[in-house]
Amino acid sequence: MNTILELKDISKTFTKKNTLHKALDDVSFTMKEGECLGIVGESGSGKSTVAKIITCLERPDNGSIYFKGKDITGLTRKERKKLYKNMQLIFQMPVDSFNPRIKLGSSIIEGMLNQGISKSDAKLRMYGFLDLVGIPREYALKYPHEVSGGECQRAAIARAIMTSPDLLICDEVTSALDVTVQKQIIELLDKLKKEQSMSYLFISHDIALVQQFCDRVLVMYQGQIVEEGTVDQVIMNPKEEYTKKLIDAVLL
Ligand code: ADP
Repeated sequence: MNTILELKDISKTFTKKNTLHKALDDVSFTMKEGECLGIVGESGSGKSTVAKIITCLERPDNGSIYFKGKDITGLTRKERKKLYKNMQLIFQMPVDSFNPRIKLGSSIIEGMLNQGISKSDAKLRMYGFLDLVGIPREYALKYPHEVSGGECQRAAIARAIMTSPDLLICDEVTSALDVTVQKQIIELLDKLKKEQSMSYLFISHDIALVQQFCDRVLVMYQGQIVEEGTVDQVIMNPKEEYTKKLIDAVLL
């Protein structure tokens, strides 16, 4: 299988309260096409910074990112737009994916219109995707604040997969939802995994969710990858005390 994503020696430092804070320290990993890779770690371990660096929303201080063999480190805003045809990010807060003043349907088809697809074709395609993610077609006419958090996250998923990206990055996509809705969103992602050929980078503080959804997992602690392996290997035989704590917190 081809490598879809490679991070090489990525470091990133932020200034927090006038002191330098290393959010990522020499992070390297690869991901194969079609793989479902989890990143797990406690809050503040650097998971979202990895997602932002892959999607070029943050620039690394050091290191390189390769997507489908191409160096995408430090793309310009214009170049980034092209990248987003092939790579999409879904956030923790569903409403963050949408402009509050634009109806959901218009936001969902925006990416397709940017690709030159006609409005009528884009609309037809959108209805198919609304069916797929399980929200009524008439919701296309609602504003983000007029639907529930779970429905908004479904719409965000529809929006992300409309352009058939090669890589879908899910950053704590269930954390802001209540437990039953979390389960529905995981079931939806599971269904998509079977039906749509994409690679998934699934970021969560919850190793139980990662276990449900991923093939392989990277464990992050204080900006570093401290452990990696298949989900079963890491959960059955964790090498780090830190990983054991993550497991004990949710699986025992
Ligand atoms: P996680 O996603 O695992 O919770 P983050 O990647 O969001 O962790 O953050 C890692 C560390 O970097 C945290 O200490 C966080 O406070 C810090 N950080 C992230 N983004 C910024 C920023 N824009 N400015 C300052 N510090 C940041």
